[in-house]
Amino acid sequence: MIAAGAFAIALAAAVTLFADMKDSDTFAPKDALECQPGEISACGLPSNVVIDMSKAKVQRTEAEWRERLTPNQYYVAREQGTEPPFRNAYWDKKTDGVYFCVGCDTPLFDSTTKFDSGTGWPSFYRPIERSFVGVERDYSLGMVRDEVHCTVCGSHLGHVFDDVPRKKGRRYCINSASLRFMTRENYDAWVARNQSAANN
Ligand SMILES: [Zn+2]
Repeated sequence: MIAAGAFAIALAAAVTLFADMKDSDTFAPKDALECQPGEISACGLPSNVVIDMSKAKVQRTEAEWRERLTPNQYYVAREQGTEPPFRNAYWDKKTDGVYFCVGCDTPLFDSTTKFDSGTGWPSFYRPIERSFVGVERDYSLGMVRDEVHCTVCGSHLGHVFDDVPRKKGRRYCINSASLRFMTRENYDAWVARNQSAANN
């Protein structure tokens, strides 16, 4: 009971601390490149934003999401969690192809815009289609970050930063667990199939 009481007091103090913080007190997110070993970066912390699902074309019940996704994919895409750097499927993948949303099979990022950011997460300069990737300002955890998600199904993807040369784009720091890779050959076939279906 004593331990629980102490925890409650500590929690109350932490809540008060965050409640007292004004905008000017929030600190800029420290990114993976600036972190010492063991430190957790802005990309490595979960997000806490409200994603407007009313416009999402793909809506699924909780049971359907659980059925479709692995527990790790569910944690990242549906609970705005994050995966560890360098220990995820695509951080150093260099194969030519396209990365789809794990939640709705929408093509989101092309490997031609993928680059090695050194952070340990797959990083892209821009999405394939701007309207497919929504941005939500995230003020949680005392930081100001830009959360990114799939607008078609509302799945959380990661964060976006403006620390690359502007002419190249932005740095989309994306969780592998939110993506599904398709080779260029299969992607071209997928596009052809969809086009012929649309024409029929
Ligand atoms: Zn999606």
